[in-house]
Amino acid sequence: MRTYKDLKTDLHIHSISSGHAYSSIAEIVDGAKSKGLKTIAITDHGPAMPGGAHLYHFNNLRVVDSNQDGLRVLKGVEANIIDAEGTLDIPDYTQEKLDLVLAAFHVRCGYEDYGAHVNTQTLIKALQNNRVHVIAHPGNPLFKLNYEKIAKVAKEMNILIEFNNGSYLKGTSRSGGEELDLEMALACRKYGTNVVITSDSHIASDIGNFEKAWDLVNKAGLSGEQILNLDNDRLLEFLKNR
Ligand SMILES: [Zn+2]
Ligand SMILES: [Zn+2]
Repeated sequence: MRTYKDLKTDLHIHSISSGHAYSSIAEIVDGAKSKGLKTIAITDHGPAMPGGAHLYHFNNLRVVDSNQDGLRVLKGVEANIIDAEGTLDIPDYTQEKLDLVLAAFHVRCGYEDYGAHVNTQTLIKALQNNRVHVIAHPGNPLFKLNYEKIAKVAKEMNILIEFNNGSYLKGTSRSGGEELDLEMALACRKYGTNVVITSDSHIASDIGNFEKAWDLVNKAGLSGEQILNLDNDRLLEFLKNR
């Protein structure tokens, strides 16, 4: 029987550059290796977040080695949706340089909650106008969505839905989102949408902690085929072809 320890890829990790995270890239690499991961992505918060990384941080990521003693390090961003047009706080030319773009709603980053209908339209515009690979924490109770619609659109556009372990930890700003994520997961099952399970770690010791998100995704009955980070090679192939 599979467990969360079979997930060898963590696509959502913050370094000290996010402003409210605490580990360097060297510490993150060590933490990932100690958990036996094969691939990680550094996905710092975009510039619209208070204390978030400057655009130069993302443009200069080429200086970080993509292969650190056999650990694959992807260069990414957790971009903010900053207005009702679905604009991201990372311009096209920077998105093109990155291996991975996560897109998410966050408070105090420009766009505020307008209810599920408008939030859903805004997110779809963000997906249509950018190079988004993953929708980060869609079950955020501060920005409700039409989960059926998002699962359907994500399936059609070949975009991954994230189940974020950090959403279920004590004291998170997204507490209470578990039921919404379950709704999201059930919709992914219905439409056959692919998903990833991530840690959203803000400190190296939290990398590869997937247990609660794994339990939720399994509770919803998603197949192993749909959980893309159960197969590291397939996930890398997916990202390459997007
Ligand atoms: Zn986030
Ligand atoms: Zn994050």
